[in-house]
Amino acid sequence: MGKNWDGLKTRLEEIRAVEEALILFEWDNETLAPAGAMGLTAETVEKLSGIYFRMMTDPRLDECLKACRQETLSVEQQAVVRETEKKREDLVKIPREEYEAYSGLTARAASVWSKAREERNFDLFAPVLQEILQYRKRFASYKAKEGQALYDVMLDEFEEGFSMEKLDRFFGLLKGEIVPLLRQIEEEGTPCPADFLKGDYPEEKQEELGRFLAEYVGFDFRRGVMAVSAHPFTTALHNHDVRFTTHYDSFLDHSAFSVIHESGHGIYEQGIGDSITRTPAGEGASMGMHESQSRFFENMIGRSLAFWEPIYPKVQSLFPEQLGNVGLEEFYRAVNRVEPGPIRIDADELTYSLHIMVRYELEKGLVAGEIRVEDLPGLWEEKYEEYLGVRPENVSQGVLQDIHWSQGSIGYFPSYALGSAFAAQIFARMEEEMDVEGLLKNGRLDVIREYLREHIHRFGKMKTSRELLKETTGKEFDPSFYVNYLKRKFSRLCGLNR
Ligand code: ZN
Repeated sequence: MGKNWDGLKTRLEEIRAVEEALILFEWDNETLAPAGAMGLTAETVEKLSGIYFRMMTDPRLDECLKACRQETLSVEQQAVVRETEKKREDLVKIPREEYEAYSGLTARAASVWSKAREERNFDLFAPVLQEILQYRKRFASYKAKEGQALYDVMLDEFEEGFSMEKLDRFFGLLKGEIVPLLRQIEEEGTPCPADFLKGDYPEEKQEELGRFLAEYVGFDFRRGVMAVSAHPFTTALHNHDVRFTTHYDSFLDHSAFSVIHESGHGIYEQGIGDSITRTPAGEGASMGMHESQSRFFENMIGRSLAFWEPIYPKVQSLFPEQLGNVGLEEFYRAVNRVEPGPIRIDADELTYSLHIMVRYELEKGLVAGEIRVEDLPGLWEEKYEEYLGVRPENVSQGVLQDIHWSQGSIGYFPSYALGSAFAAQIFARMEEEMDVEGLLKNGRLDVIREYLREHIHRFGKMKTSRELLKETTGKEFDPSFYVNYLKRKFSRLCGLNR
């Protein structure tokens, strides 16, 4: 091992320490921090972000990276150098004062967003969103290659190689196939009654079920925790400290499936190799690939009949009054009910990507300057009506429902839909290689998890999402796997003759 590599390693460990502090503050803000702490904590976050920025843009880091390139490096080390360079190049292009001000802005924006959502008042949030949008556009312009659209730059940050051109085709396919399928189901489909999933489900029992499910699918609680937040999410300090949240309401399946979903993210993080964790190469390959793992566990696995077969008696024993008289098949149909609604995180499997399509179209228009921030609430409602056939009752159920824009994540949403599509493509391949249904019936989640770890998780960012998909499935990204999967599953469930 060369001395330049050792020097780089030391620098990266220091940088990582600051990053982990930032991750912990973010976790704390979303879970336990008192509302009154927000202002002062935002100052700390701003300072830490400044320190991170200085360390990453330090010319000596650049020298160190260049020197490492001259040494013989392992594949892992090469990935670390490459990913550090990428992160560094992105930051070097942004003036430090702007980066710090932006970090402070987004740290404050979360509380503004949450107040606006509580008070159902978009006007409170609009000026902050406007400011964030301006920053994001400016940052994108620093990075844009000649002739590259700003929204393409933003998309690339979350999903390399998936530009508007590709996404227009992807969402075009969904619009052409899934919107009409939804209409048909609403007109001719056999309903899946689910009244029994809403009711008096005590929070402690829901939590018990959640912990059971997380552990059952393979989330390792020795290296992870579960907490509560308004918006479920997963974060990780490293592969030995992975944290996720859920939220409880009167629907049993909302928390249960959010737990399975976040466990999928968590299992990915816990499966990243020891040799790359805590380095810039030790993260998920991309947002879309991350989401493919959570969707895979939530939908392809969690919403299958075979998954519940061995564990349904346990579920019934937790809720004897509520589910004692509900059969397995009935439960399975209920958790797969098609019920278009205004809230993305409560969406059913079929309509989920339509929620994303709305956000994609609006972001695209916002960044291109074709849509003004103040027009968002109205356009939001129109698009929901058009694609999902529902209108949100107020802005809190509409344009203010997601935290993402307040965090500056513009260009992030499409990766949710891409994740579902990656998951369907991986699932199709897995079914060719093993009897997935049989494994689920026997509770052998470990075999499925190991397949994913072997093909995807352990590599972290050593491969791109495109490479992982190609190597795992033998094919380039092909959205028809997803569309066909949805058509097959829901035609059968809803008794359509297609
Ligand atoms: Zn997710």
